[in-house]
Amino acid sequence: MNIVTIVGARPQFIKAAVVSAALARHADVRERLLHTGQHFDDNMSALFFRELGVPAPAWNLGLSGGTHGAMTGAQLAGIEQILLTERPDLVLLYGDTNSTLAGALAAAKLHVPVAHVEAGLRSFNRRMPEETNRVLTDHVSRWLFAPTDTAVLNLRREGLPADWIHQVGDVMFDAALHFSLLAKARSRRHPVFAELAGRPFVLATVHRAENTDAPERLRAIVAALVALAGEIDVVWPLHPRTRQVLAQSGITLASSGTMHCIEPLGYLDMIELEQAAQMVVTDSGGVQKETFFFGKPCVTLRDETEWVELVDAGWNRLAPPTSVDALRAAFDAALGSVGVPVRPFGAGDAAQRIARILLGGPG
Ligand code: UDP
Repeated sequence: MNIVTIVGARPQFIKAAVVSAALARHADVRERLLHTGQHFDDNMSALFFRELGVPAPAWNLGLSGGTHGAMTGAQLAGIEQILLTERPDLVLLYGDTNSTLAGALAAAKLHVPVAHVEAGLRSFNRRMPEETNRVLTDHVSRWLFAPTDTAVLNLRREGLPADWIHQVGDVMFDAALHFSLLAKARSRRHPVFAELAGRPFVLATVHRAENTDAPERLRAIVAALVALAGEIDVVWPLHPRTRQVLAQSGITLASSGTMHCIEPLGYLDMIELEQAAQMVVTDSGGVQKETFFFGKPCVTLRDETEWVELVDAGWNRLAPPTSVDALRAAFDAALGSVGVPVRPFGAGDAAQRIARILLGGPG
C-alpha cells in the first residue's frame, strides 16, 4: 500500500511521529511524507523531525504565509502535482490546518481516498479557520478516525456513514505516553529549567487567530499573565505568530524575573514542562489535552472548545479573554484544582489501530 501523508504544522509532526511508526511496522506499507512548508522555523518544524524520529519528508513545497486563500490555493496546486505523479492508494491527513484542507481537496478531486486523523472535532464556531478546514476535510474523507465519542456523534449528526467512522482514541495520547518515557533522558533541558531552579510555575501558550488578531483580547491575556507572574513564575514559549503580532501592535511583553518569554520549545522539553507545571494557560487544542494527560489543571483562553469532555470533568476551564479580571478569577479557581477521573481518549493504541484499519483489519 502506497500512502502519501500530508503535514505542514507543528502538531501534525507530533501526530505523524506515532502513526508513521505504527505504519512502518507493516512491511507492505510504503509511506512518504509531503511537507507543505506551512511551518518552517527550525523550532517549529525540523526540530520535531529530529527529536521524534519522524521520517524525513520526501517533498517539501516550502509554501507558507499569505492570506488563507493564497496559502491554501498554492498548497492545493503543489500537492496536486505530486499526487498526479505518485498516484498513491490513499492520502493521510491530520487535524485542521490549511495544509489539511489543501491535501483533502487535491486528493478528493483526483479520486484518491482520504484518511483523516482527528475527525469529528467541532467548536461550532464557523468563524474559526480550523472549523472550516475540519468540516470540509471530514466530508471528503473515506476513513474518519475519531478520537472521542463526542467526535463520533458529531460525524453521525452530519450524516457521515457509520462504517467510515472509527473511534480509535487520540493519537496525541499515544504520543504523550510514548514520549514522556523518553523525555527525561532525551529532552534538551532548555535554559528555562535552570532559571526556574525548581520553583513552582505556570506554563502558557497562545497562538490562535481569535486571540492574536484581536488586540483587546491579546492585551487582556498579556496583562493577566504579567500580573500572575507577580505571584508565581510564568513560562511562555512564544509562537512566531504571537511574537510578530505583539511586535507590530506595540504591546510590550518582556522577560523579566518571573516572566519567562522564550522561543518555541521542542516537544520533549514541552512535555517535561507540562508535567512539572502547577497549571497551564493555553488556547492550543493539543496542550489542553496534554495538561489533562499529566493530571494538571488547565485554563483555556477561548469562548468554546472541541475537547468538551475535559471541561465537563472539571480539568479544564473556559476563560474567554474579555477582561483581565475574568482571566485572573479563572486562574485563581484553576490553581490547585483537580477534575474527576475520566478516560475519553482511548488506551494509547490509536496509532496502531489506525494502521490496522487502513490495511483492511478490524482495528
Ligand atoms: N508544543 C511544543 N512546543 C511549544 C508549544 C507547543 O512542542 O513551544 C506542542 C504541544 O506540546 C502540543 C502541540 O505542540 O503537542 C500543540 O500544537 P499547537 O498548540 O501549535 O496547535 P494545536 O494543538 O492548537 O492545533
